[in-house]
Amino acid sequence: MGHRNKQAGEKCGRLHGHTYDVVCEFKFFKMTNGVTMLFSDIDKITEPIIKEYDHYFLLKEDDPLVELLTLAGEKYKTVPFETSAENMAIWIFNRIKNEGKLPITRIELGETKTSKIIYEE
Ligand SMILES: [Zn+2]
Repeated sequence: MGHRNKQAGEKCGRLHGHTYDVVCEFKFFKMTNGVTMLFSDIDKITEPIIKEYDHYFLLKEDDPLVELLTLAGEKYKTVPFETSAENMAIWIFNRIKNEGKLPITRIELGETKTSKIIYEE
């Protein structure tokens, strides 16, 4: 996903992208026949949320680039916050929790192999 974060300095404020890595943890309280929930059923809920941003350029909704990309006919996504890893981790966590109705307890969102954010409740 491409993005820029104008609040995080000159380097992060430039247009650039990452191959984000997302790991989610869940806490289930019931099992049926030794299974809480099939991984494939978790994937059916979480993947559309996470992949919604795949190969898109993500902008804060008031970024001036929104107008330029619209004029250029480019596809993009907007969010109501700066596109920092921290904000993205919390955003995805809450979407999985609220829209997906899954008992997510922790998310790791990495911009690189060595730079990641952990958010947990
Ligand atoms: Zn970045």
